[in-house]
Amino acid sequence: MNAVVPSRKLPKVRLATTSLAGCFGCHMSFLDIDERLFALIERVEFDRSPLTDIKHCGPCDIGLIEGGICNAENIHVLHEFRRNCKVLIAIGACAVNGGLPAQRNHLDLGLCLQEVYLTGLGVVGGQIPNDPELPLPLDKVYPIHELVRIDYFIPGCPPSGDAIWKFLTDLLDGRTPRLGHPLLHFD
Ligand code: SF4
Repeated sequence: MNAVVPSRKLPKVRLATTSLAGCFGCHMSFLDIDERLFALIERVEFDRSPLTDIKHCGPCDIGLIEGGICNAENIHVLHEFRRNCKVLIAIGACAVNGGLPAQRNHLDLGLCLQEVYLTGLGVVGGQIPNDPELPLPLDKVYPIHELVRIDYFIPGCPPSGDAIWKFLTDLLDGRTPRLGHPLLHFD
């Protein structure tokens, strides 16, 4: 009788994702790979991500960061990802260069807070939030490469599902990721 040879399964790649000063649009685009998620889940297991209930990023192969840095908690999470992820990827315009949220960089933060919470149209008896639980906003919105080393950048607002799929499969197959012209855009 032939011995039963167990099928050799490759160990799964561990992937963490997070949204810092992002809009979750890059995560929605990630989900736009649609049924290819089934193929992905055969090769990848998720660590901390908005798609899981894991609260802190543990040791991972790949970290995907959406969004720039706009407050103290973003800095904390970004450093946690950099410490734990072998490959860290900035996904989307916000992570790459601050994106639309960085349009506030030419405004005075104090005046913005005053207008939104104290003097804006329709605000009555307002108060600038001061609970110590709230992360302090930064003076500006920063792209993530200004704080930590980033291994790859995927532009686009958001990058398409096809671009994310091509990028990830290149990486998982051991190729240098290349999007090529049709998948590369900045809007
Ligand atoms: S790059 Fe665009 S889609 Fe992605 S988080 Fe920023 S605003 Fe949202």
